[in-house]
Amino acid sequence: AKWGASRGAPNWAPANVDLKTDVPHSARVYDYILGGKDNFPADRAAGDQTEKMMPGLSRSMRANRNFMARMAHVVATEHGIRQFLDIGTGLPTTPNLHEVVQKAAPESRIVYVDNDPIVLVHARALLTSTPEGRTAYLDADFTDPESILKSEQLASTLDLSQPVALSLIALVQFIPDEALIQHVIDTLVASLAPGSILALSTATGDYAPEAVERGVAAYRGNGIPMTARDKATVEGFFRGLEILDPGVVLVHRWHPDADAAGYSDNEVFMYGAIARKL
Ligand code: SAH
Repeated sequence: AKWGASRGAPNWAPANVDLKTDVPHSARVYDYILGGKDNFPADRAAGDQTEKMMPGLSRSMRANRNFMARMAHVVATEHGIRQFLDIGTGLPTTPNLHEVVQKAAPESRIVYVDNDPIVLVHARALLTSTPEGRTAYLDADFTDPESILKSEQLASTLDLSQPVALSLIALVQFIPDEALIQHVIDTLVASLAPGSILALSTATGDYAPEAVERGVAAYRGNGIPMTARDKATVEGFFRGLEILDPGVVLVHRWHPDADAAGYSDNEVFMYGAIARKL
């Protein structure tokens, strides 16, 4: 598809790439609902429709983004992790993961991975590492873990003999096949050193089943295969790992700060947890 200013394309969009901007994309719908500018009319229409079906979606997404920042801080400061592999990074949103962890430990190294060409276009904003540390961006698919593990970006950024935090934040709800998710997590974790951490958040309807059911239907109606999962299924993604305190909980209940205390259970549609490889 070709588009121009008349269709509301942002001025950074390269004219020579087919970015499939006439269909909604999860990264851009998320960006739109969080108040970002990196989205297109189809994304905004899908976002408006989904938020109407699922009131509170924007607050839930904000709670998830805040979980990401608290998780990154805790993993850096309490668990001493200095290397991060963040898959399903999304469009740059302040603060980005590397900004959180490099504030605690400037030498931290981060590899960001996403499969959306629009995220790739914006990757420069993720490559603002401290001089002591490093950030890299890889355009790859979570469902092809070998392409991530064998990438030049990973090899030149991370030392897999040392612990790594694998961060899958608000990613796996876009992958319907649970066996595939498990296979990919197992493959990635098998390549990491003992002491590594898996951090994951994903959608659930456990606390607001009707709103989430409507929201899932709205996403699917727009061609985005969203799946909400119950607590036992989410715990299953951590199999073979030691789930750390406080377990799998709604994201605003995970190591809450003052901001997290402002959310109630029925407006947060995301579970989160971290676990350690023994
Ligand atoms: N982690 C960020 C963004 C979540 S939005 C946050 O929590 O704030 C989900 C992101 O996952 C989008 O950027 C989307 O492009 C990406 N994504 C979806 N499926 C993917 C896949 N199979 N491989 C890699 N990235 C994927």
